[in-house]
Amino acid sequence: MKLWETYTKPILVAGPCSAESETQMLSIAEQLDKSKTPIFRAGIWKPRTKPGSFEGVGTIGLQWLAKVKQEFGFAVATEVANATHVKEALDYDIDVLWIGARSTVNPFIVQEIAESLRDTNKIILVKNPVNPDLDLWIGAIERLQQQNIKNIGAIHRGFSTYKKNKFRNNPQWQIPLDFKHKFPNIPLICDPSHIGGRRDLILEISQQALNFEFDGLMIETHNNPDEAWSDSKQQITPTTLHEILEKLSLRKHDDENLDYKNKLQLLRSKIDELDHEVWENFHERMKIAEEIGLLKKTHNVATYQPERWKFIYENAQESLSKLGLSEDFVQRVMHAIHQESLEVQNRIINED
Ligand code: PEP
Ligand code: MN
Repeated sequence: MKLWETYTKPILVAGPCSAESETQMLSIAEQLDKSKTPIFRAGIWKPRTKPGSFEGVGTIGLQWLAKVKQEFGFAVATEVANATHVKEALDYDIDVLWIGARSTVNPFIVQEIAESLRDTNKIILVKNPVNPDLDLWIGAIERLQQQNIKNIGAIHRGFSTYKKNKFRNNPQWQIPLDFKHKFPNIPLICDPSHIGGRRDLILEISQQALNFEFDGLMIETHNNPDEAWSDSKQQITPTTLHEILEKLSLRKHDDENLDYKNKLQLLRSKIDELDHEVWENFHERMKIAEEIGLLKKTHNVATYQPERWKFIYENAQESLSKLGLSEDFVQRVMHAIHQESLEVQNRIINED
């Protein structure tokens, strides 16, 4: 039996961003309800964006994690970023080791960590890389699989962007969902703390993850969040965590209810019909783009016409926003259509 199967879903991981002192660790552990959050996390080697920030207490934190395990019975988890960390964590019998987002981007480091964990039965979690690159995430998982590591899990913690929006790290849900599709048997855990970067977003992001049938949540929890030595804005108290857990709705995979099945089937067949129409329309549109390509070729005119694109785009935005479609959606769809049209025209113009 896989170690994972001993946990009921959603698998909950809670504990501070960073271990700060033995008292802090024991106080948080004491306030957490082990029956709800069986895995206790704390970072002891902290990858910080800039030097001069708190970089973790280091090896001594392993003793505190061991104490949390011994006194309260939690499974304990920490981040490892090289073979030395792995060795020390294994020496202290840490149960769950995770590879952080800044390490997943680096195949040398992932390989080093994977080899140092060869044949382990411990649970090894791989956070997504900081950049939105599914292959890099998958590559890290494959490096672990190659070393015969059996209990692998993944953590979705969002992706860095230059332009900041309401999230600290953009969730880009399609990426973890593609991951889930590729690895249906690898538990996928959402980390709403690092996605949101703000404690008031934790409930909303966690619920979204459960709507998508994620297997668990990792939520940073601190006895005194405002005074935390790292990530203070996103940490919550154990009491707040328990309140959030009460509010979350679990979704089941399916329902056998006949009325539900029939209604769903009807709605899905409507969608299938509409999709078919959409594709037919795209096909027609591309045939016209071919004709335009030929015309431009005959008159030796450039394929990309900024004024025309501006007109199409603004027109689409105006009419589609009236229909209640989001601006972001319209933007993505129109860009894809326009790009495809240009490719069709360029192909025609380049043909001998
Ligand atoms: C963390 O979990 O505290 C952490 C550093 O996360 P990430 O690797 O996702 O930035
Ligand atoms: Mn953190």
